[in-house]
Amino acid sequence: TSEDPRRAKMIARRVKLLGPSYRLFYDEPFHPVRGEGVWLYDASGDAYLDVYNNVPSVGHCHPKIVEALSKQAATLNTHTRYLHETVLDYAEELLGTLPDEIERLTLTCTGSEANDLALRIANFETGGQGIVVTNLAYHGGTSAVADMSPSLGSGVGDHVRTVVAPDGYRRGTEGLGEAFAADVTNAFADLEANGYKPSVFIIDTIFSSDGVLSGPKGFLKPAVEAAKKAGALVVADEVQPGFGRTGDAFWGFQRHGFVPDIVTMGKPMGAGHPMAGLAARAEVLDGFGKKYRYFNTFGGNPVSCAVGMAVLNVIRDEHLMENALLVGKFLRQGLRDLASHHPLIGDVRGAGLFSGVELVRDRQTKTYATEETEQVVNDLMRKKILISRAGIGGNILKIRPPMPFSKENASFFIQTLDEVLREIPSQK
Ligand code: PMP
Repeated sequence: TSEDPRRAKMIARRVKLLGPSYRLFYDEPFHPVRGEGVWLYDASGDAYLDVYNNVPSVGHCHPKIVEALSKQAATLNTHTRYLHETVLDYAEELLGTLPDEIERLTLTCTGSEANDLALRIANFETGGQGIVVTNLAYHGGTSAVADMSPSLGSGVGDHVRTVVAPDGYRRGTEGLGEAFAADVTNAFADLEANGYKPSVFIIDTIFSSDGVLSGPKGFLKPAVEAAKKAGALVVADEVQPGFGRTGDAFWGFQRHGFVPDIVTMGKPMGAGHPMAGLAARAEVLDGFGKKYRYFNTFGGNPVSCAVGMAVLNVIRDEHLMENALLVGKFLRQGLRDLASHHPLIGDVRGAGLFSGVELVRDRQTKTYATEETEQVVNDLMRKKILISRAGIGGNILKIRPPMPFSKENASFFIQTLDEVLREIPSQK
């Protein structure tokens, strides 16, 4: 509990040493000391079910990842300016998961760096600066990408326009893709009118920070075509949906039936090891590469590539995509069943093991159940389930567990959520 003197002391030290921008989750911040599979353990040995963390995508402390990392770390770790086979093997394997048109890979350490590089490449290719993003997007923390990350709350650059994210629940799915495309066209036209030539249309293809907007499948295609027509390059930010999480495809954009010019990726790529990258069509990357040098000290080093390869192997060998598809469906069905006796649940959506549950005070007005959602998140934590929330109203439960999540884990989560929802005053 918060009265725990050790915990209180740690919180005070954090504030003093790390400053106020380091935010903690939960009323009673969590202090894990060990992880295994879909579980995190505190110092007293209590197990918490992780339904939130997508970085340890293959499971916390997976032995195959630990082994690959320690073996390579004990042998050689340098950088990409010496010859090393692992980076080539890894690039071949990873590019093999992407459409044929995407032929080149650049490795970085963070998703922010990958998106930052995507901007530089697009600016070079198009000769423009104009960027269109969705209105609650997060694409990273360097100053260039923070300028196109409205969810940070610090505003966007003069060369950036935001469009309302395509929300099938609030707007309805009829004509959703076309309406989104019209907004993209207008946004680029407005940029041109203000002297900014179109350069980049960047989309997180599961719209994680916009509130997990997963469907209907294919609804992004018209907007992608609109952006291309305007002369921009299309960047699929796969940091959240990539690496099989959506179950039906290895990459989120594949659910929508288009091929981007640039694909950026990160988070689950190294299962916790800092690893990210950018893959692109050869004609997009090579012009930039011939003119400019890009070097990332740690990106693509032999240890990272050994880890990345182990992640791909585990996803394949343990059939984690199939599991994501199967358990994801089972989980959403269970959540929809819960909705039949909990009016607070307005919508259940998602793809594979990436789901959003939107809580509303009234199903007609769809008023954000902000405080209720906060209570649900904290109550679940007290019942040893780790989760968080998203969306402009902070009313969408974000469910993205490590991918070995089983039906049994899903049932435990649904049962506990049922108990917690029964305690919410408006539901009684
Ligand atoms: N893009 C998206 C969609 C993200 O969710 C994030 C991280 N939350 C990033 C980019 C930035 O990645 P990183 O934190 O590795 O820089």
